[in-house]
Amino acid sequence: MSGKILIIEDEEKIARFIELELSYEGYVTNKAFDGRKGLEMAEHGEFDLILLDIMLPQLSGMEVLRRIRRTSSIPIIMLTARDSVMDKVSGLDRGATDYITKPFAIEELLARIRNALRKNLNEDVEVLSASGLVLDTGSRTVTVMGVPIDLTKREFDLLHFMLKNKGMVVSRDSLLENVWGFDFSGETNSVDVYVRFLRGKIDEVFNIKLIHTVRGVGYVIKDEK
Ligand code: CA
Repeated sequence: MSGKILIIEDEEKIARFIELELSYEGYVTNKAFDGRKGLEMAEHGEFDLILLDIMLPQLSGMEVLRRIRRTSSIPIIMLTARDSVMDKVSGLDRGATDYITKPFAIEELLARIRNALRKNLNEDVEVLSASGLVLDTGSRTVTVMGVPIDLTKREFDLLHFMLKNKGMVVSRDSLLENVWGFDFSGETNSVDVYVRFLRGKIDEVFNIKLIHTVRGVGYVIKDEK
C-alpha cells in the first residue's frame, strides 16, 4: 500500500526515524515540527493520512485535530508519549482514527497505518464533519465536540444528506426526495419539522449555528469559522 503521509511531530529525531521507515515502505512523507505549521500543511497538502503528536508547540495536537476535523475526514493517528487514558479517549472522541503510545515498535505503527488507510478505502463508511460535529455512517453515530447525540433514523439520514452537501443549499424538495423518498406520505412541512428537531438537539444544546435557513429556498450546513 502506498500513500502520502504528513508527520506532525516536534521531536525531530522521532519524526526523521518515522519518515525513514515510511519511505522504506514506499510512502511519500512530509514533516512539520509544530502544530501551526502542521495544520497549515494539512489544510493545503493532499495527504492520505496524518500522524499527529499530542504534545506540540504553537498548537496542541488536540487543537490541530479539532481544526482539521471541521473540514476533513482524513485518517489521523495520534501519537502520545503519555500513556494517558484521557488523551486517548478525548482524541478518539474528537475524531482521531486511532492512536499509538510512544515508544512504539515501527511494525505496530505500520500496521495501524495500513489499517487506517484500508478503513478509509471502504466507501460504505463515511465520516463527515462540520463545526465540531462528526457523523460516522459506519457506527451510525453523531458527536458534537466529542459528546454523543441521540438521533432517530430520519434525523440521522437528514443530517447525513445535508452534511454530504455541506456548503450547498439544499431545497426542501431535494430533501424530501433524497431523505424521505418513497416513504414520503406526510405533510410538505416535514422537512421544516425535522430541521427543528435537529436544531433542538444540536444547535440549541451546543450553542452552535450548524443548520442555516435560506429563505424561500431551503437549508445549508456551513462550517462555523
Ligand atoms: Ca511532542
